[in-house]
Amino acid sequence: MSNYEFWFVVGSQFLYGPEVLATVDTRAKEMAEELSKVLPYPVVDKVTAKTHKEVCDVVREANYQEQCAGIITWCHTFSPSKMWLNGLKDLNKPWCHFATQYNEAIPNEEIDMDFMNLNQAAHGDREHGFAGARLRKPRKVIAGFWKDEKAQKKIGDWMKAAVGVSVSKSMKVMRFGDNMREVAVTEGDKIEAQTQLGWQVNTWATGDLVKAMNEVTDAEIEALYAEYCSLYDIATDNIDAIKYQAREEIAMKKMMDAEGCKAFSNTFQDLYGMEQLPGLASQHLMSLGYGYGGEGDWKVSAMTAIMKAMGEGGNGASAFMEDYTYNLVDGQEYSLGAHMLEVCPSLASSKPRIETHHLGIGMNEKDPARLVFEGKEGKGIVVSLIDMGGRLRLICQDIEAVKPILPMPNLPVARVMWRAMPDLLTGVECWILAGGAHHTVLSYDVSAEQMRDWARMMEIEFVHITKDTTPEKLEDELFLKDIAWKLR
Ligand code: MN
Repeated sequence: MSNYEFWFVVGSQFLYGPEVLATVDTRAKEMAEELSKVLPYPVVDKVTAKTHKEVCDVVREANYQEQCAGIITWCHTFSPSKMWLNGLKDLNKPWCHFATQYNEAIPNEEIDMDFMNLNQAAHGDREHGFAGARLRKPRKVIAGFWKDEKAQKKIGDWMKAAVGVSVSKSMKVMRFGDNMREVAVTEGDKIEAQTQLGWQVNTWATGDLVKAMNEVTDAEIEALYAEYCSLYDIATDNIDAIKYQAREEIAMKKMMDAEGCKAFSNTFQDLYGMEQLPGLASQHLMSLGYGYGGEGDWKVSAMTAIMKAMGEGGNGASAFMEDYTYNLVDGQEYSLGAHMLEVCPSLASSKPRIETHHLGIGMNEKDPARLVFEGKEGKGIVVSLIDMGGRLRLICQDIEAVKPILPMPNLPVARVMWRAMPDLLTGVECWILAGGAHHTVLSYDVSAEQMRDWARMMEIEFVHITKDTTPEKLEDELFLKDIAWKLR
């Protein structure tokens, strides 16, 4: 996890006198310290803001400091919003308005007018909320007692989404070759993606990668092979194929690290000079947190890297995925997801096996090595980012992954089986209506709400297909959103 931190900015004013302000200061410090112990990223108490200048100063500093991944504001007392307007207008970091109060209960005996003047977040936070609404400023509003686990979980989840914003703004994608010929949904406006999401998407020749592969030493290959042996079961005699994948991985990683890239794409249609499509190589790179997209799909590649960074420990169970085929038997309706090789082992329910098999698609001279495993059971989401022309749309669908209902002994790739919400067939109808791609990021540990937070912070359209979605309601929603987004 990178050294991200969040700044606690508490609102007040001079009206209540120095004693009240000293108490607010002490409490803000205490709250930041206690919250830092339970949240995924530290909360730094920055200032009790009482003036226009203090707000502008802290926003300017937050915008400038790379490690500040967002600000959390709260008005302990009433804090008139005109002093916040200029600062908040200029804020370009994620903002969470935490509507909390220091005390949990109203103290029956103690409560008097002094208590009321000190503890008036209930109206202070409403004045503060108006400023956000009036400015049309994207913000997360979380209400709850600051010691309550439910409120803390909400803040922690939002923090991870805010880290996803920071990761997005510095995202660099290395493309080996172009998109698969003639495919529409993997295309997109890279300038739009860069101005809206911050992504730098550029191409490197496959020949450059082959050159880098030829420079990899035997010692480097042996070291990575030993790592593969410690992580995975070797279920093939074709050790040369595994070592060839190690050569590919080392070369891709060196090229990406030299450029600061956290994601990559390639295509089976451009393997000139390579014996195997990277399979195991791409899978192991994904397990290290790199994003990947097949067939030149740079959008899904960047989204994979961002959602991994938003997951547990800064590298969660999120992976490039593709809907392949359905089981349409009544009562057992499931999607079978896989890819021709490249499924991230962060989804695996048990230790993956390295196997080698013939791959008919593409220009593979030799059988590529790949990890084969079953995906875990559990609730999750699938996410697709599409370019609607003039704007980006993020589609998120709730899913429930199951243990694959068939062993499928001749399927030579990793596989995940799930039921889309609200049910497979309605879910498919909704997904297709919204224009969702065949490529997705499947995640077990990033929630739909976090993706909604991320989309709000990136200021792009968000469509959520849930257990309550119907094609009729969705059609209306898409129609109205289309108009709204064209007006922006
Ligand atoms: Mn694909």
